[in-house]
Amino acid sequence: MPEGPEIRRAADKLKRVLEGQKALSVRFAKDRFPTLQASSRRLAGRMIEAVEPRGKAILTRFAGGLTIYSHNQLYGEWVIYRGEAPASHLQTRLAIRTAKHSAILYSASEIEVLKTALVHRHPYIAKLGVELLDPDVSEVDVLAQVCAPRFARRNLAGLLLDQGFLAGIGNYLRSDILFAARLHPAARPADLTPAQRETLARVALRMTRQSYRTRGITNNPRLARRLKARGMAFSEYRHWVFDRAGAPCHTCGQTIVRIDFGSRGLYLCERCQPGPR
Ligand SMILES: [Zn+2]
Repeated sequence: MPEGPEIRRAADKLKRVLEGQKALSVRFAKDRFPTLQASSRRLAGRMIEAVEPRGKAILTRFAGGLTIYSHNQLYGEWVIYRGEAPASHLQTRLAIRTAKHSAILYSASEIEVLKTALVHRHPYIAKLGVELLDPDVSEVDVLAQVCAPRFARRNLAGLLLDQGFLAGIGNYLRSDILFAARLHPAARPADLTPAQRETLARVALRMTRQSYRTRGITNNPRLARRLKARGMAFSEYRHWVFDRAGAPCHTCGQTIVRIDFGSRGLYLCERCQPGPR
């Protein structure tokens, strides 16, 4: 599933081709979204004012007070073409055509048309916590979430995937943030020292932003460059621990293990991330 950094990069691409352009046509898959067919007619001919990522959703705002909400879930993917989109084996769920480009959303399952004034009340948007990729968010905001009493007794493994806690983190960031902060997934904010809480806030913010800038590298960038120079593949050098079960820890050499927390795999170095006492 794409995480905050991947969604924000997709939104950046959409922004470049859609913002300030007139939508010549907006089409929603008929079989999948029968109730949106009327919106298709209402949106055609309007200017596209803004494209904004929110958590793992993207809001495409049109003039006249309407916004398309889309959430890619597991398989959704935006692709931009110059001119008409070619035929594809993927299922087109939303197609926005401007004079120069076609922006196609394939395979996504959640698409809605909302009144822009009511977007903040959408159930997904309303529950979003602090957005790590929002440039206005600082370490102080993240630390306030880490210290909030309502999150104090939940384990970090579950908490880091909760978009109501910190929005933008997914599975690879979860494992690597915990590793870089030297924290065990079973630890709860209540178990941490003030210094550990500050470290968690700093690492969560910096690593998510680094991943956005570097196309998904959560490892230390200098170390990543050295490992790449030694001939390692991107999938081997990009992360500290995620998806590296059986490989040696980049820091101490201990074998990385995979444990199941909820239904999704979590990776850790048991030497660098000792369990809570
Ligand atoms: Zn280690």
